[in-house]
Amino acid sequence: MKLYVIDLGKIVMMNDNPVVDASSEDVESAIPIQAFLIDSPVGWVLFDAGCNLEGMDGAWPEEIRANPYVYEEGMTIERRLADIGVALSDVKHVVLSHLHLDHVGCAPMFPDATWYVQRDEYDRTMADYKAGTLDMFHLQCDMDAICSQDRNWHFIKGDEPYELCEGLTIYDFGPGHSFGMLGLRVDLECGTFILAQDTVYSAYHFGPPAQFSGAMVDEQGYLDTIEFIRGLADETNATVIFGHDMDQFHSLTLSDKGFYE
Ligand SMILES: [Zn+2]
Repeated sequence: MKLYVIDLGKIVMMNDNPVVDASSEDVESAIPIQAFLIDSPVGWVLFDAGCNLEGMDGAWPEEIRANPYVYEEGMTIERRLADIGVALSDVKHVVLSHLHLDHVGCAPMFPDATWYVQRDEYDRTMADYKAGTLDMFHLQCDMDAICSQDRNWHFIKGDEPYELCEGLTIYDFGPGHSFGMLGLRVDLECGTFILAQDTVYSAYHFGPPAQFSGAMVDEQGYLDTIEFIRGLADETNATVIFGHDMDQFHSLTLSDKGFYE
């Protein structure tokens, strides 16, 4: 199996930044937008799908555009995959950590894939969508695109991890940052990776002790999940890849340079 870390650009935090450590002054005021691609025995698996490419052209509401999404030419998910030799239609499984704007924006580019989402995240977001009460991170434009056609959903819920195949496991991390979070564990020859995405924003938030982030819907769930991940990482000697940690991101081998296997 191979794990590719995909750089999809960044969101520049012009206003207050709930993600980075506010106590550190020289911290870069931007968060990386990352996705992951796994070459697995069950085919190509994508974990998260970055931002809507039309977001900054008006698809996103103004308050979201105030922290601009910036990406260079060649940083689209389509180009990044093409550079690896993968067509959009080659991706058979799309795992969504949650349904926030910087994780689902390009998911509709994979209409024929099976989409994995945490059950409560889906139910609550769809209920809010129908009621017109979406919060600021679950966007109308993304839900419109997602609901524009039937999807092959696979809902994840419960303590029993879901094995996509040997060495590739989806975890229900429960509520915390959003209504229901998924994480992915990838066991490679070089070691185990836990892809935490926004369940843990950064090394600072991981601690110990765990630190609250600016975006949480369930504080206790958030803390419990971080301790669960800490235990799992200790047990499996894993590297935890955080959701938006620019320092860690710069230390990773990105897909234009190589992969992990
Ligand atoms: Zn995020």
